[in-house]
Amino acid sequence: MPYIITSLCTNDGACVEVCPVACIHTTPGAPQFYIDPEVCIDCEQCEIVCPVDAIFKDIDIPAEHGASIEVNAAFFRKNKAAVGPVSFDKAWEMISAAHDYAQIMGMAVTAAVVDEAGGPIAVGRMNGAEARTAELAFNKAYTAAAFHVPTAELVPQARQPWLRSLAISHRGRFLPAGGAIPILDGVTIVGAIGVSGASRPEQDILCCRAALAILEGHGH
Ligand code: SF4
Ligand code: SF4
Repeated sequence: MPYIITSLCTNDGACVEVCPVACIHTTPGAPQFYIDPEVCIDCEQCEIVCPVDAIFKDIDIPAEHGASIEVNAAFFRKNKAAVGPVSFDKAWEMISAAHDYAQIMGMAVTAAVVDEAGGPIAVGRMNGAEARTAELAFNKAYTAAAFHVPTAELVPQARQPWLRSLAISHRGRFLPAGGAIPILDGVTIVGAIGVSGASRPEQDILCCRAALAILEGHGH
């Protein structure tokens, strides 16, 4: 039961800031923002902040805005790239970049890359990294892929009821701790990288950024 943005939208972007799964997008020149019906988790945060009441749950949408259901879905059919997950070679390159950065900073970490569904593609544990960091890195990456946002953004919301119920449904793999970032191709999520082993989440995040930097200027 996704939420829908109607033509009442004035394009101010307020809803984008609060969406926990980053499923609200637009393109330059488009008349409004749109919600991806395949990703929306029905949390109603966008509806609450919209200053012009442009957002409705699909089953509650007024008849005069009924066409917006298809308009939102069509936007993503058109703009979501038909791309596959990160290749193993690219995932391994990212993991090596995360390791290189960690080594320079005197840390031993595990880095994990997953596909858009949270399935593992590659995991690399540096010499000296604790065994448990492998599971933690994977769980962080899984969480970033599932929620489409860096896991650090989920930390302040970890006690929210909607997030806790989702955590239960993800069978213990959900880990709202900083250190994982989704890998995007335009508005399409193609995977996520997670890192664990540094003494602070901020350092794990920097390892992720080092890994993502190798994608800049390259195809995934
Ligand atoms: S209902 Fe929640 S998940 Fe869906 S678009 Fe709005 S903020 Fe995002
Ligand atoms: S908050 Fe409302 S007006 Fe602003 S971009 Fe979102 S739907 Fe449009």
